[in-house]
Amino acid sequence: MSMFSKKNDAEDCPAGDECPVHHRLDAEMAHEDIEYGSAITYVGDYVVFSGDNPRKVDPLVQLVAKAFRLEDQIGEDEPQYQTAVLYVGPEGTLSDFLDVSGALSSATKFVQRHDSWDNFFEAHDMIVDAVKMDRLDLSETAAL
Ligand SMILES: [Zn+2]
Repeated sequence: MSMFSKKNDAEDCPAGDECPVHHRLDAEMAHEDIEYGSAITYVGDYVVFSGDNPRKVDPLVQLVAKAFRLEDQIGEDEPQYQTAVLYVGPEGTLSDFLDVSGALSSATKFVQRHDSWDNFFEAHDMIVDAVKMDRLDLSETAAL
């Protein structure tokens, strides 16, 4: 474990040295039965992070909204998954966003959303490759 990847608050993390939030470690996790996954890949100054689309709201909330004809306001048609490219700097990690409100949205440089569980990790890897090959415009904050 490199001493340079250690963050101040990492000592308190129950995941310890294996934690991809506090350390620059790549990680993938999948629960096939509920089609939930996450993937974290650090690439230079950026981290590519895939998971559920944060704009996708709870199914029960959607049901209530539909009953009251409010579905336009809550994004019923939001895709299930999201891959985001976040600027963390050469030594930063996802933990940099944990306690700083607004930091996550201003660090988000690219967002792609989709509905395909079968392509969840392929979609992630495609973005990782695009960042590695400098094919994405990461100069502006992405619209969330
Ligand atoms: Zn941690």
